[in-house]
Amino acid sequence: MAIIKVVCAHCDTTDGVVKNGKAPSGIQRYLCRNCRQSFQLEFVYNANKPGAHERIVDMAMNGSGVRDTGRVLGISPTTVISHLKNSSRDR
Ligand SMILES: [Zn+2]
Repeated sequence: MAIIKVVCAHCDTTDGVVKNGKAPSGIQRYLCRNCRQSFQLEFVYNANKPGAHERIVDMAMNGSGVRDTGRVLGISPTTVISHLKNSSRDR
């Protein structure tokens, strides 16, 4: 049996990361006992994946339109607009 070390998405530690039930979508969630935050490694929606916000902003800076960005990244144009409107916020 192979043991897979899960790295915390918030503090990058592998110590004290335990399973923490499942999301309503059935995806395994984890709890970090170091920083007391929970996270998951897989996502149902492409817009929730790590780095999606940066890709949206990068595409906008390179001249891609809202619908263009949505089509390429597989997310809704409404979600693209929402990310761009909130892009000044530190994410
Ligand atoms: Zn942590």
